[in-house]
Amino acid sequence: MIDTHAHLNLEDFDQDRLKIISLCQQSGIKVINVGIDYQSSQRAIDLAQEKGFYASVGLHPNSTPEDPASLITLLDQPGVVAVGETGLDFYRQSNDPAEKIRQQDLLLIHAQLAHRFQRPMIIHCRQAYPELLVLLRRELSGVPGVIHSFSGSLDEARILLNLGYYLGFNGLIFKQNLDEVIRSTPLERMLMETDSPFLSPPSLDQNRNAPHLGLRPVVEKIAFIKQISAAEVIDLTDKNAYDLFQLEKYD
Ligand SMILES: [Zn+2]
Repeated sequence: MIDTHAHLNLEDFDQDRLKIISLCQQSGIKVINVGIDYQSSQRAIDLAQEKGFYASVGLHPNSTPEDPASLITLLDQPGVVAVGETGLDFYRQSNDPAEKIRQQDLLLIHAQLAHRFQRPMIIHCRQAYPELLVLLRRELSGVPGVIHSFSGSLDEARILLNLGYYLGFNGLIFKQNLDEVIRSTPLERMLMETDSPFLSPPSLDQNRNAPHLGLRPVVEKIAFIKQISAAEVIDLTDKNAYDLFQLEKYD
């Protein structure tokens, strides 16, 4: 199994990071750790030295603003399979036009880096799907990627799939009803993720999510909704992760 979006690079794992890494490796789970700022991107790269671990570098729209030019030196490092997470999040600053413009500009810079370094994008979107769709259609066509932690409508899912994007699903599917979206999204376009330490499935009797604990329940719920086996979900979505992130280059 491949957890295509985790944050073992964040300080939530400072106390027992090595233990969690070895639990993932023992469970046969590969992990893409995703940066949210310069420092966590650097730490994701450090973790990519572990077997079955990969990194994505980017500046999250909600992180304290930093110069995105700093990412250029990181993108050359071994194990960096994607640019992100980047994207739009208007949940907190929905009424600040200047902030919306800042996030959109930052997303465009990430897209330029993705194009230049030939990496896919990991895109975060919260309460900003209409604006994201405008950008993806007008400015970013041709840069492949995943809309991680998909939380939009059925129509928005269809449009994103038509534009060629993958949709990432995690423990959010236990909190928000995405059954219809999952039913109508072909498995060939889905990626599995945990967004650890966030979004623990309810079956996990703890606050902190982790790949070896939180990925399996997501796979099983998707298998149940699609009326197929968990093994089929794993086979196909692992292949998707290999295709999008070209993981064979890094193994
Ligand atoms: Zn994330």
